[in-house]
Amino acid sequence: MKLTLADILNWLCETDARRLRELWERADRVRREHVGNAVHLRGLIEISSFCDRSCLYCGLRMPNREVLRYRMSAEEILQAARAAGERGYGTIVLQAGEDPGLDIDALGQVIARVKRESALAITLSLGERSEEELRALKNAGADRYLLRFETSHASLFDQIHPLKPAEPPGQRWALLSCLRELGFELGSGVMIGLPGQRLEDLAWDVEWFRRWDLDMIGVGPFIADPQTPLGAMPLSNRAENALQVQGDEVTTCKVIALARLVCPRANIPSTTALATINPERGQRLGLERGANVMMPNFTPAKYRRAYAIYPQKAGSRCTVEESDRSARDCLAALGRPVASGRGDSPAMERRRATSSRTLEASYRAE
Ligand code: SAH
Repeated sequence: MKLTLADILNWLCETDARRLRELWERADRVRREHVGNAVHLRGLIEISSFCDRSCLYCGLRMPNREVLRYRMSAEEILQAARAAGERGYGTIVLQAGEDPGLDIDALGQVIARVKRESALAITLSLGERSEEELRALKNAGADRYLLRFETSHASLFDQIHPLKPAEPPGQRWALLSCLRELGFELGSGVMIGLPGQRLEDLAWDVEWFRRWDLDMIGVGPFIADPQTPLGAMPLSNRAENALQVQGDEVTTCKVIALARLVCPRANIPSTTALATINPERGQRLGLERGANVMMPNFTPAKYRRAYAIYPQKAGSRCTVEESDRSARDCLAALGRPVASGRGDSPAMERRRATSSRTLEASYRAE
């Protein structure tokens, strides 16, 4: 039965443990039925910590002078990609701050090289880039793009994500359409517990996951970073509103479970931010409540701590071997197999099949 916006909000407000168990079980069942038991591993490579934005939530924001800035060389990216391929991964994710110094032609060459050398799928998460750049990266062979809309509450988004000089508002939303049109598998998502975010807003976020028919949905708790304006805000300001969303484990799991219910075929990771707020059980809980993807970190150890989008990020002191091992141990404990292959989006396959059927039907009608 289709979840209405009111149902989504009711679940977000639910506190009864027995009822919540129903939600977890339902999400777990839908996950099993639509995307199976196997969990896809994606190798996350954080290729640059430079950023020329000033987002109020993110530790990589340009004005933060405490961050070490680095940009991986083409050779370093290739090596990290090969390491993921050798360990049997089907996908690498190249993520970065909005780095104006990123050479898009050179990155395109790296992408083309990885595609020539291996069967790896490539996901990009480079923030807001121009349409020309996105098209060039797609033509070079990139398959998927992750760009979280962070919150669907437009004025909250505008507050926490100041525009660059001469930039038009609403660009991120428009870019999601552009990415879809360019043929990328589309990933988006939100942070949970942003100061000023209400449960109604979160219900709308989930509704938007459905409306976009997202291929990938990444959600995680907002983690306050004292080096950022949002992190430096006194706690009392955030807590004074009873409707304020809490960036806790249960709320995060509710959003993962609801995302699974509204987008049964999406690839949904159990995120590092969830592991950060509960190092023992966080990632496992996500996988038991709707998620089917993990993104172990393949960033070279020497750069990891510099990619500090928030403090105490899980895995930031680990080696590649340790990140890979801890994901596999988690899956072994859960009795879930590691998936093989690229793990393309079943939602995209279905959209293609449906649109070709619709086309066929309209030809026949003519
Ligand atoms: N520059 C890229 C990649 C950013 S990092 C972009 O803007 O898309 C990926 C995600 O980390 C962001 O989309 C955001 O949702 C999340 N993130 C950033 N700061 C965070 C914080 N303080 N707490 C939790 N998640 C955060």
